[in-house]
Amino acid sequence: MKAESVLVLIKPDGMQKGIAGDVIGLFLAGDLKLTGLKVVQVSPRLAQAHYGHLRGQFFFKEIVTYLMGDLHAKNPVVAMVFTGPQAVSKCRKIAGATNPEEADPRSVRGKFGRVTTKGVFENLVHVSSDVKEARREIALWFKKNEILK
Ligand code: UDP
Ligand code: MG
Repeated sequence: MKAESVLVLIKPDGMQKGIAGDVIGLFLAGDLKLTGLKVVQVSPRLAQAHYGHLRGQFFFKEIVTYLMGDLHAKNPVVAMVFTGPQAVSKCRKIAGATNPEEADPRSVRGKFGRVTTKGVFENLVHVSSDVKEARREIALWFKKNEILK
């Protein structure tokens, strides 16, 4: 089966909770190759570009400030690329449903996520939604020479 790549982010709530290691471990257990990894202090520009397709949503402003760490003591983001057969669907399954209350209890979001009283899904991780979106996002977060072949 053809290999594909996916962008996985540990968002600032995961960093603030001190569980980045556990989260990375859950993704590594998915038997994909880790082909990129770095820590990023997210700028307004990067956050807005990353969520550009959600600009019209009622939660857009909130998720931009969330990704920038403004809701979590300015913590950074860990950005990773995983590569292998069905990397997108595998990583989305490991992450769990968008709403942590609906996520499988064994998934990252089910284990560690919460819904704030303001209704924001603090769901710890971002995983690209499909292969095309993954290509766009990986190019946004990584230089070519930062990713293994
Ligand atoms: N989000 C939210 N409320 C919603 C939908 C989404 O707070 O009703 C947040 C949540 O943090 C989510 C992010 O916006 O991870 C991006 O939404 P998307 O629909 O792309 O979900 P994902 O692909 O992350 O599961
Ligand atoms: Mg998405």
